[in-house]
Amino acid sequence: MIFANSEIFRRATAEIAVGVAACKSQCRYFGVCGGGAPVNKYCELGSLSSTETNYCRLSVLASADALLSFPSERTLTLLPEANPFEARVCPAG
Ligand code: SF4
Repeated sequence: MIFANSEIFRRATAEIAVGVAACKSQCRYFGVCGGGAPVNKYCELGSLSSTETNYCRLSVLASADALLSFPSERTLTLLPEANPFEARVCPAG
């Protein structure tokens, strides 16, 4: 309780919120990330209010890109009857 009311905790919380807001306005991966891990921002870039880090690139961005590319690659390489995604596509109209 004492720490939660401390000046350093309030400043850190405010700085983290600035970083999350910057991520939200700048990063197209915000929907899957939510603004990242503050400790990585601080350790890599020296600021809790920063945005993209190597941690982002190597974990969030790489994973999200791989996940997003998977259905389109599978759609292109599988026969229609073997495509597990085709059954979920609603017919137009
Ligand atoms: S991936 Fe990195 S830059 Fe993007 S929202 Fe997450 S922490 Fe921010």
